[in-house]
Amino acid sequence: MPSAPNPHADNASGPLRVAIIGAGITGVNLALGLQARGVNYTIYERAPGFREIGAGIGFSPNAERAMGLLDPGVLAAFKTVANPNGEDYFQWVDGHGTDELMFRLHVGKDGFQGCRRSDVLEEWARLIPAKRVKFGRQIDGLGEGRDGVIIMKFADGSREEADVVVGCDGIRSRVRQLMLGEQHPAAHPHYTNRFCFRALVPMGQARAAIGEYKTSTRFMYNGPGAHAITYPVGGNSVLNVMAAITDPNPWSEKQHTASGSKSEALAAFGDWHPTVRAIIDLLPDTMDKWAIFDMAEHPADSYVKGAVCVAGDAAHAAGPHLGAGGGMGIEDALALSALLEAVDKVVEEGKKSRAEAIATALVTYNTIRYARTQWVVQATRAACDLFQWRNPEVGSNAAKFGEEITWRFHKIWDYDVRGMVDEGAALFAAKIGDGQKGVILDAKVLGVKLDNTQGE
Ligand SMILES: Cc1cc2nc3c(=O)[nH]c(=O)nc-3n(C[C@H](O)[C@H](O)[C@H](O)COP(=O)(O)OP(=O)(O)OC[C@H]3O[C@@H](n4cnc5c(N)ncnc54)[C@H](O)[C@@H]3O)c2cc1C
Repeated sequence: MPSAPNPHADNASGPLRVAIIGAGITGVNLALGLQARGVNYTIYERAPGFREIGAGIGFSPNAERAMGLLDPGVLAAFKTVANPNGEDYFQWVDGHGTDELMFRLHVGKDGFQGCRRSDVLEEWARLIPAKRVKFGRQIDGLGEGRDGVIIMKFADGSREEADVVVGCDGIRSRVRQLMLGEQHPAAHPHYTNRFCFRALVPMGQARAAIGEYKTSTRFMYNGPGAHAITYPVGGNSVLNVMAAITDPNPWSEKQHTASGSKSEALAAFGDWHPTVRAIIDLLPDTMDKWAIFDMAEHPADSYVKGAVCVAGDAAHAAGPHLGAGGGMGIEDALALSALLEAVDKVVEEGKKSRAEAIATALVTYNTIRYARTQWVVQATRAACDLFQWRNPEVGSNAAKFGEEITWRFHKIWDYDVRGMVDEGAALFAAKIGDGQKGVILDAKVLGVKLDNTQGE
């Protein structure tokens, strides 16, 4: 007897095709989360290979928990390159006047460890089979084909199809532009009137300049209009230095980087304590200065449009000051991995069509991720004001600083990552299970009708 036709089997033949645009922290973590759940994916990356800049990054406790839930191998890979902190504290120093401790915050056992960006990306990339990544593919257009299939157009003229497209293409996301329209204020990030210098300094040189203790663990130096952060990476072989400076001028370069020099950095820290001047003196004579852009002024109203969504910096780019942006992308990756696994299941069980299940999953993703990630964008600006003594109610008052910074960091670090996944699963199941049409209608309103590639 032939089985009864599945009423939802419209475009459900073959495995779900998830296209991940961008192989940065967010894209790679999403890939690994999907892989662990048996969900089919392909990464499309414009660069010729996995690539990260020569600088450090630290992952906060929430980010570590999200890695562990994505796949224990993701966390283990980070831990193989994570540099132990000398002390399990984040310490803030008056970098301007006294060089004395203002405040210290416990980061948890072996918490908030740093690493070289290139090291951790390499470790994660090892876990991704080569056939899953297409390099040299810069997305340029999106259109809708038959049965809700998304057609991706690349700068080299090639085209590919997918059922879901996740833009993990960073702060200047092309996917976001395509979703919102290029003229939309949220299609582009904005200058925060801060730029930074960043360098990895050989440890011998750093120790000779500021001593063993100051190079052994995570420190931030606060002061008027600027701040600097240092922590060891690369098995204590280099000191990661980032100095952020307030800039009253608009950013006039097309790129987010411009050529800069140590003399410019030294001038910005001209009347600071000799310890901070010694740190700045460790920077190379010439280097890029990095404009800090974010999406605080014009946030996107939604991270989702039909079967297309954005994640990580593409959705909610924040400045670097809370060390949280990478972690937010990893949490997004976890939320999406779990929801797309659920899509696979309900389609397999014949409960919903693939298009309906995808729309429901992406709307759920937006529901569980939007408020927290938008808050981080704003909190990051507020934190920078605190570090740079620009909050009029706090200024350089150490006790008030401690209070203000503690709750912000704890709101990031203590987040119930597993609870987020459970909430997503419950919302998705409720919307799928009770036959609600609301979500589907939403998805239609947001339908991804981006150009006229219908049926091509
Ligand atoms: C100075 C500084 C310090 C920071 N420190 C920390 C920290 O300590 N901890 C932390 O958690 N976060 C930190 N952050 C934030 C963190 O770096 C970012 O949030 C994170 O790197 C974003 O990752 P992503 O994968 O979303 O985007 P990206 O890293 O920007 O990756 C985007 C990828 O997409 C590719 N791409 C772009 N356009 C296209 C296209 N059209 N088609 C195909 N591919 C494309 C790019 O080549 C790239 O590989 C810091 C940020 C800065 C600027």
